[in-house]
Amino acid sequence: MATVIAIANQKGGVGKTTTAVNLAAALAYLRRRLLLIDLDPQGNATMGCGIDKYGLAQTTCDLLLNDVPFAECLQRVTEPAPGFDLLPANADLTAAEVGLLELPERERRLSRLLSNVVAAYELVIIDCPPSLNMLTLNALVAAHAVLIPIQCEYYALEGLSALLETIEQVRESRNPGLYIAGILRTMYDPRNNLANQVSTQLVAHFKDQVYHTIIPRNVRVAEAPSHGQSVLTYDPQSRGALAYLALASEVLRRHDKRCQAA
Ligand code: ADP
Ligand code: MG
Repeated sequence: MATVIAIANQKGGVGKTTTAVNLAAALAYLRRRLLLIDLDPQGNATMGCGIDKYGLAQTTCDLLLNDVPFAECLQRVTEPAPGFDLLPANADLTAAEVGLLELPERERRLSRLLSNVVAAYELVIIDCPPSLNMLTLNALVAAHAVLIPIQCEYYALEGLSALLETIEQVRESRNPGLYIAGILRTMYDPRNNLANQVSTQLVAHFKDQVYHTIIPRNVRVAEAPSHGQSVLTYDPQSRGALAYLALASEVLRRHDKRCQAA
C-alpha cells in the first residue's frame, strides 16, 4: 500500500509546489509508482507538470464533490520516464472547499476516496494550499506523513509552530498515526547569514526530523515551471535537479527504515 505524504505549510511561497513537482519527478525517475495530487485551487503543480489547468475535463474537485471516478480525473505526466499519475486542479477547487463543508465527515473525504486506489502506488504526494483550510485538513487526515518545506528566514519558525499544533490536533482527533516525514530547507542561500542562523536553530530544535538534503536557491528550479517541466527534465545537471534527486533518495531511505521497523 502506498505511503501518502502531504507537503504542507500554511505560509505561501516556501517551496511546497516546487517540492511536490520535483520530488514526484525524482521519485518517478527512481522508478517508484507515484501519484501526485494537486490540492491547491491555484493549480500550480498541475501547470508545473505541463498540464493546462484551463483545459481540464475533470479535476480533484470533481473527485471530491461530484463522485466522478478517480480514473476519470487522472492525467499522465510522461517525463521523466517512466512518468507518474497526476490528479490535476484548477480554480474549481475553490468550490470544493466550500462544498465540502456541507458533506458529512467532510474532513475524511479525500482519505475515503484514496483508500480505494492507494494499492496501485508506492507513494502518493499531496501539494497543499497555503492555508490551514478544509482542503489541507483533508490532506492531513488522508496522509501518513507530512513533509514541511521551510524557507530559512525570520518568520519561518513562527509559522512552523502553528502548523505543528494543527498536526498534533489532527493526530489526536482523526489520524493517530500521522508523523512528520521531515522538515526541508528550501531556496537555501549559504551566503545569507540569517539563513544560516535559522538553519542552525532548526537543526538544534528538530534534530533528525530535518532532512540532511538542502534545496539550494537555483534559477533553473524557478525557470522550469514556465516550460511545464520539472527541473529534472528541464536541466538534469543543475544543482536544483541534483538536490531533488538527493531528497528523493533520502525520503526513500527514511521510508524504508520505517517500514522495516514496523
Ligand atoms: P508554495 O507552493 O509554497 O507557495 P512555490 O513552490 O510556488 O511555493 O515557490 C515559490 C516561488 O519560489 C516560485 O516562484 C518558485 O519558482 C520559486 N522557487 C521555489 N524553490 C526554488 C529554488 N530552490 N530556487 C529558486 N526559486 C525557487
Ligand atoms: Mg503552491
